[in-house]
Amino acid sequence: MHNIPDNIKQVSAQLQQSAQQFHRSVDTIMLLAVSKGQNSKALRLAWQAGLCNFGENYLQEAMEKMAALADIDPCWHFIGPIQSNKTQVIAQHFSWVHSIERLKIARRLNQQRPENLPPLNVCIQVNIDNETSKSGIDPAHCLELALAINALPRLKLRGLMVIPRQRDRLSEQRQPYLQTAKLLNSLKSSSAALNSLDTLSMGMSGDLSAAIAEGATIVRVGTAIFGPRTTTKP
Ligand SMILES: *Cc1c(COP(=O)(O)O)cnc(C)c1O
Repeated sequence: MHNIPDNIKQVSAQLQQSAQQFHRSVDTIMLLAVSKGQNSKALRLAWQAGLCNFGENYLQEAMEKMAALADIDPCWHFIGPIQSNKTQVIAQHFSWVHSIERLKIARRLNQQRPENLPPLNVCIQVNIDNETSKSGIDPAHCLELALAINALPRLKLRGLMVIPRQRDRLSEQRQPYLQTAKLLNSLKSSSAALNSLDTLSMGMSGDLSAAIAEGATIVRVGTAIFGPRTTTKP
């Protein structure tokens, strides 16, 4: 756990290097610290090292860390699968949700987003490799879902999120991310209402350079920051 500041330096250096290599401005890429399976002390170290966006997959676990870190108040992103009975608490406590794949969930989040908070930033999770076992909507149905979500006033549709299957070489890793970037562009150009979409949530510890090459604006990095996950539930 004491390596967290060093790890963050290394990941930031990689991010910077990739940005430079692929002619991106580093300011346009958010480093989201994926903190599932890590305790609140680890998150506090990451915060002290300059990170202020945390991604969580499990609601109960996230709520316990939010309580422990109430004094620093970071920006919380929900990135895991969402069941209907969890939407109210998510709408109340998170700034971003990356993992929307059904209109029903989006409608509930919209209804339940408290009036005193800004609209909830959301991304549509796309099953970019068409894997039967994976979450995410089929790319062919993405436009329809995007238009429906975009009409919900308490949500702010920002873009797309993907978790491709694992590939080893950079050139292979870039392929699903290129497809995702093309899909975002096609959404933007198919309707004026979607023209302001600005987010590609893609890239993890093992392939963040490939994602940056293809236009990632949020990279979701867990292991490379925190080391192996120590717990699945706190
Ligand atoms: C766990 C997780 C990550 C982080 O994965 P690492 O390989 O540990 O960087 C990113 N995105 C999602 C959706 C995750 O569930």
